[in-house]
Amino acid sequence: MAQVLAIANQKGGVGKTTTSVNLACALARLDQRVLLVDLDPQGNATMGSGVDKRTLAATVYQVLIGEVPAREAIVSQTAAGYALLPANRELAGAELDLVELDSRETRLRDALAEVDTDFDLVIIDCPPSLSLLTLNGFCAASGVIIPMQCEYYALEGLSDLVNTVRKVHANFNRQLGVLGLLRVMFDPRVALSQQVSRQLEAHFGDKVFKTLVPRNVRLAEAPSHGLPGVLYDPQSKGAQAYLEFARELLARLASQSSAKPRASAAAPAAAVPDTPEH
Ligand code: ADP
Ligand code: MG
Repeated sequence: MAQVLAIANQKGGVGKTTTSVNLACALARLDQRVLLVDLDPQGNATMGSGVDKRTLAATVYQVLIGEVPAREAIVSQTAAGYALLPANRELAGAELDLVELDSRETRLRDALAEVDTDFDLVIIDCPPSLSLLTLNGFCAASGVIIPMQCEYYALEGLSDLVNTVRKVHANFNRQLGVLGLLRVMFDPRVALSQQVSRQLEAHFGDKVFKTLVPRNVRLAEAPSHGLPGVLYDPQSKGAQAYLEFARELLARLASQSSAKPRASAAAPAAAVPDTPEH
């Protein structure tokens, strides 16, 4: 059975897409069969995987509204080494269209169930909102990975996100929990980065992944070449960090599946303060 993970944070520009494409690529390099689902109408994960979002016959939008089965919309082999369920701006209409449909929260889960045995891991790049699209991502997933920048407002909004995970856990998906927080765009020379990073560790303990993804220009350049940073410049510090993160993630998933009971191992993180205390 594929393990489905949602990369989510309702803030824009915090590194969700960069994390999604590089994690997918790194996992593929570690011999995992990976599907990346682009669930953002901006289609950045699609372009960043080297697939032109303007020329697609079918996208995740047609899959969500039930026009096309997932298998038909999936680009099975991207240059990045994983399979992609792509998106483009059409997906912006899904919010409204889904409201009219039955089981509107679980459409992605139901569609992915049909390709479950084709993949070891499914990574979902969520949009920057706690919308019906993100809800579909959470209903399909067993774990949420939250990329965070270590800046003053990092914790703001985190309680809304964790509460949403809790509600989805209670109402729709007993498998769901926060798998972990990933510190991204980290700059060790900035004192505030260090300080916020320590606060995250103090509040969330083991939920904070050990791997720190540094701010690295190669990761930012890679999408214009239609490649994840992990392939564009494998020796760069950014690429190395995402490879390390992929290894850490696989180890965490392995230890979680051996821990019992399954639901409590994946339970949502504890209470979240609204802003860091200084
Ligand atoms: P989101 O998907 O949350 O909106 P993105 O992954 O698109 O965020 O990242 C926002 C911007 O920051 C992009 O221009 C991206 O290239 C850049 N970026 C993300 N992570 C890093 C990093 N570790 N180092 C440098 N730039 C980064
Ligand atoms: Mg994005």
